[in-house]
Amino acid sequence: MKRVLAVSPHLDDAVFSAGGTLAALADAGDEVTVLTCFTGNVAHPSGFALACQLDKGLDQRVDYMGLRRTEDVAACTEIGAQALHWPFLEAPHRGYESATALFAGRHEDDLIEDELLRALAYAIAAMQPDLIYGPMAVGNHVDHLAVRRALERTAEDVVWWEDYPYAMRETEPPEGIYRSALAQQYAERKTAATLCYESQLGFQFGGPEQARAALMNWRMEGFSTRRQFAF
Ligand SMILES: [Zn+2]
Repeated sequence: MKRVLAVSPHLDDAVFSAGGTLAALADAGDEVTVLTCFTGNVAHPSGFALACQLDKGLDQRVDYMGLRRTEDVAACTEIGAQALHWPFLEAPHRGYESATALFAGRHEDDLIEDELLRALAYAIAAMQPDLIYGPMAVGNHVDHLAVRRALERTAEDVVWWEDYPYAMRETEPPEGIYRSALAQQYAERKTAATLCYESQLGFQFGGPEQARAALMNWRMEGFSTRRQFAF
């Protein structure tokens, strides 16, 4: 039995990107933990942060992160993993005020990478995982990049997953990424887990039926152990 730690930026990334692989590891008897970094609440979100909730059709009064944490527990249960949630705040709560800003590089005063580094160093020392997965940060989302850099600075060997759905824009994987096909049963488990993230399906895929179709069509996951990428 191995202890497997998957470090996910947001509530959905690990399952979207590596859910089939993690389900296969759990089935083989490994102890799989999905640790999601950015799951913290703010009491009264405003501006772009509030818009990210309202555009999912969720009223201002809904506890948006609470809802997503519940979805994540269901998704992780589906793939046989334990869900852990850290209270770091997503980029819209850290001064990134538009969708464009999320992909346009780190703000100078954003010190989240160092905070993540300290928390990850502590967690890894306590958990002693045999295998660590993390985001390659395909797509360059600032939160994904922060997790990647913090993990690079904390852990020697990390298996990086190709971030989904950003990776689907590239029919050929970037050099150094190995894509493997998921067996039917794991494509199905991953799909079932993905469908648990109900609040995100419209935004990410266009709806649950489109999500199911996309995932049953794209039955692969991409990984690399490289530290440098050209994208
Ligand atoms: Zn994400």
